[in-house]
Amino acid sequence: MSETQTPTNTKERYLSGISVSSGIVFGKVCIIDHFDDLSDQYSNEFAGIDVEKQRLKNAYSSVKKEYKNALKIVSKNEKETVNILKSEMMILEDDFFLRQIHKNIEKKINAENSVINEFLKIETKLRQAKEPAIREKYFEFENIKNKILNNLQNLNLQKQIENNSIVIAHSISPIEVVQLKRRKVKAIITELGGITSHFVILARSYKIPTIIGVSNATELIKNNDLVIVNAIDSEIIINPTEEEIKLYKKKITEIKEKHKLLLNLKDQPTKTKDDYSVNLFCNINNDEDIEESIKLNSGGLGLVRTETLVMKYSKLPSVEEQFKNYIDIAEKLYPKQVIFRAFDLGSDKYLDDILTKEENPALGLRGIRYLLKNKELFANQLKAILMASKLKNVKLMLPMISSICEVRKTKELINLVKAELISKGIEFDDKLPIGIMIETPAAAIIADEFAQIVDFFSIGTNDLVQYVLAADRTNEQLSEYFNQVHISILRIIQQVANAGKKHNIPVAICGELARYSKMTEIFIGLGINELSVAPSSYLEIKQKILSINYQDAVRYTNSIINNEENYDFIKY
Ligand code: PEP
Ligand code: MG
Repeated sequence: MSETQTPTNTKERYLSGISVSSGIVFGKVCIIDHFDDLSDQYSNEFAGIDVEKQRLKNAYSSVKKEYKNALKIVSKNEKETVNILKSEMMILEDDFFLRQIHKNIEKKINAENSVINEFLKIETKLRQAKEPAIREKYFEFENIKNKILNNLQNLNLQKQIENNSIVIAHSISPIEVVQLKRRKVKAIITELGGITSHFVILARSYKIPTIIGVSNATELIKNNDLVIVNAIDSEIIINPTEEEIKLYKKKITEIKEKHKLLLNLKDQPTKTKDDYSVNLFCNINNDEDIEESIKLNSGGLGLVRTETLVMKYSKLPSVEEQFKNYIDIAEKLYPKQVIFRAFDLGSDKYLDDILTKEENPALGLRGIRYLLKNKELFANQLKAILMASKLKNVKLMLPMISSICEVRKTKELINLVKAELISKGIEFDDKLPIGIMIETPAAAIIADEFAQIVDFFSIGTNDLVQYVLAADRTNEQLSEYFNQVHISILRIIQQVANAGKKHNIPVAICGELARYSKMTEIFIGLGINELSVAPSSYLEIKQKILSINYQDAVRYTNSIINNEENYDFIKY
């Protein structure tokens, strides 16, 4: 096939979705044909109770074999992947569930329909769950169901995938991501998929550019089509023109060159042109991020989201498990700072078996509220963090703070834990710095009072924007309301920065807004002296800081801060 093909003459050559793992690639399409119980014609033919049971048994055992093989492929260090696969395997090992499918077969329903009936019952319940984390469980059942149905229909994924292709599918399961990685697929495009679904997490950690939520992708894109997947701007071009290919090849080269150039910056001090130092840190979601931040020679870690350990272990980790993780990070980063944020459980994060259902979880028992209601769990985490603080490069940060008494109560608990550690002769940093996230309007409004009782602030713009603008951060339909550069947000940042300055404590921004380089100058002008961003944005922000003049930034910011129209250009 020639490199270019005749472009399809419709607007549908351009598709869009949600980029969940970034990168730009160009290649040939391979559509994965899953058995689709909603639209496929499947037969009602019934071959007899024994035959149907045997077919089901064969399908179950091949799927189990696939999972066992996948577990052999992934390394033991890939704990998240192992846990995801094991969690799906548990569905296959549920005897009660299997017996229910058998009962259907005994009513003379064939194996396919019996599987669909039973999965539908549980999937309907999961889909109706209010908590996103429980709704995400739906995907695990969907993955297993599709695997079994594919087997019953002899649709073998391994045979369908072509090496180095761009895979398009209605949905993808985590085990398939492992298989796709082996086949070196260049990109993944799916019609379904939640931003936080397990397959997305794996695709991201394997650095496979991925765009999800592309409506009708499996119909609009054909096998062997050439496509450009721009998983930076969430754009797909089907059968691009020569011109478009040239443009994208140029873009890919530019990105590579830019990254190489940026890497040269990694050992330079992070200062503006006129010598104003800005501390630039990394936000950490997983082990890969830690390794990345070390490679980048980052200034340290500005936000370790410890609640991701709950996902890593598929349960609340014990004190020992937590300590092992925390000390490992503190040692790897030493002598640079590591800010561990106490578990921010609740709202859209890791609800599954731990939290009770709430009508309004974003305004519910989350972050510090949950921790103070579950003192034993909180004390265990404080113990593990204190034990890891013996190197004296560790700091503790509290999420979702809205009242002074939450800090007081936490300090009381810390004192109790310290007393226990002293009595056992366990070493820790007695001066462990304690800071708070500024992510509720209440905390921002009384920042002046907070600044007198804590050691640092970190502004969590993701939640702050959600609560100030009353716009759910997880609701795609509200994206125009979720305006992170609304004038109210910039004024709040300024007010918090001033409170920090007055009481001489550092003020960082660790929300997503920190990674927009168009905002860096304004943040510096507002008096922010620390930023914490995902490792993927680190060098770009560093480059921006090096190009700024502090005095100019202050003048520029003062001239625009009071008029929202002045920074319309920042909207993205
Ligand atoms: C934030 O709210 O901006 C933040 C950094 O915390 P998270 O995204 O983990 O809620
Ligand atoms: Mg937050």
